[in-house]
Amino acid sequence: MNNLTILLSAAIMTMTVSCGPKEKADLVIINGKVLTIDKENPTAEAMAVRGERIIAVGTTSSISRLILKGKTEVIDAHGRLVLPGFNDAHVHFGPLDPDFIELRYTTDPTVLTEKVKKQVAKTKPGVLIEGGHWEHEMFIGKKWPTKELIDKVSPDNPVILERADGHSVLVNSYVLNKSGITKNTRDPFGGEIQKDSLTGEPTGILKEKAVDLIITENTKPGRTPEEQEAIIWKGYLLALKEAREYGVTSVQIPGKADFGAYEKLQKEGLLTCRVDIGEFLTGDSTELLKFLQEKLKFPPDSNWIRFGYLKVFIDGTIGSGTALMFKPFADNPKSSGLEMMPYETYEKMVIKADKMGFQIGTHAIGDKGNFWVLNAYEKAQQVNGKRDSRHRTEHAQTLQSSDITRFSQLGVIPSMQPTHCITDKRFYEKRVGFERCKEAYAWRSLLNSGATLAFGTDYPVEPLNPMEGLYAAVTRKDRLGEKGEGWFPEQKLTMEEAIKYYTLGSAYAQFMENRKGMIKAGYLADIVITDKDLLTIPETEIMKTKVDYTITGGKVVYASGK
Ligand SMILES: [Zn+2]
Repeated sequence: MNNLTILLSAAIMTMTVSCGPKEKADLVIINGKVLTIDKENPTAEAMAVRGERIIAVGTTSSISRLILKGKTEVIDAHGRLVLPGFNDAHVHFGPLDPDFIELRYTTDPTVLTEKVKKQVAKTKPGVLIEGGHWEHEMFIGKKWPTKELIDKVSPDNPVILERADGHSVLVNSYVLNKSGITKNTRDPFGGEIQKDSLTGEPTGILKEKAVDLIITENTKPGRTPEEQEAIIWKGYLLALKEAREYGVTSVQIPGKADFGAYEKLQKEGLLTCRVDIGEFLTGDSTELLKFLQEKLKFPPDSNWIRFGYLKVFIDGTIGSGTALMFKPFADNPKSSGLEMMPYETYEKMVIKADKMGFQIGTHAIGDKGNFWVLNAYEKAQQVNGKRDSRHRTEHAQTLQSSDITRFSQLGVIPSMQPTHCITDKRFYEKRVGFERCKEAYAWRSLLNSGATLAFGTDYPVEPLNPMEGLYAAVTRKDRLGEKGEGWFPEQKLTMEEAIKYYTLGSAYAQFMENRKGMIKAGYLADIVITDKDLLTIPETEIMKTKVDYTITGGKVVYASGK
């Protein structure tokens, strides 16, 4: 369906209120406080859905006329808040592995020892043990963990534990030995083998491209292919369940994921959120042509499984000290971060893929990294001509002031994750210094300059729960609700703005703002009802807010207490 057909059918549907049974609704929500995110009609009490689309938005009495007894499902919202479904614009969504060692929010590093020991006890020798989401800035002492923490409990198993940002890993000596990484191994381009300052021995921390040095051939999967398949399938179901419970009705996966798995889930009626999947940006024409075929198979005008954008990394992260900065880090004057490739290589790839009509999303966190990305997108416009490309900068965390306005000028989308701000602010100032923090997570500055933000979580780097993101966007305070005005409070957003970027903003980033992200006649019926009124509750209540109903494509896929 094109734009015009959607508009026309929407108009016809609104006109036919109170007609015969075939115009009646399949589902209505009445007595709600509906925040539509539609600026022409910002609030309403009720809405009606037929099939997978919203057919009318209005007052409870007008919508009630569309109820056909025995046919229409009626949800009485009892005054609760009704919103468009959340659309996570940057989420590493995928099957959850039950054997993965979860280390999020760990403050005592010896917990790593304990948890690895437990997992080793139920694992055959030689089988890979994986875990992650640890964050040394949360540890008592704030020191990087070392292999000694896990070596003694894992003599016969390879262990790989990812840092929360996914840009560094802690491995044990087993992995170092099998991979031939010693004190004499040199850092690869774009990577760092952390070494002990006294002995020169690898500490077990591998950053960025040094992770590619790990040889995993010697590690057996430890499961039969059938067992593995069953676990992955279960993992998808678990992930989808989590998304439903949090009111997430759309996910945009950066880079590669398994199209086939989502097709199978959809065929079996188990897919409860819409999925965009991408590929990784490359300069290889054959690969790019293959991606074009994929894009044809999962075209932009489909609504459930779509080909998204081409992902690429230009730098690392602030947490790992690998973001590409103009000037050295305040707490490490020897380093200005790491570039993942030379600028010229990156620019060439961008121009080529842009010419073929792809949308590109580049991970950029440092101020120089972001500068490069904007330069390359600008260059592509000059070479290939300006089009509605909506290239994206994933994270856009640290910007030099002169780059702020370039986002709207170039039509580039800052795809940002509010929770990163409240997680990283604990060490941001220490690492980059006060001055550079002024345009960090610069939501308000970007918004004022006319940019359209897209919000997400970067899950599993941060939790999937959108309430944490909304809380972060409106408070810029830690999760314990510290006193004061928040970190660089001038960059805070209002709740309504935060919700808008988490719904309509994210839809815009995937070229779907004409059918998703608003509660409006003709739009896809992706809707959430929350148990608290996010617009009026004190900030301490935001993260405690739960979703009572999640509706995707007109179907109730989650109802609390059921
Ligand atoms: Zn990410």
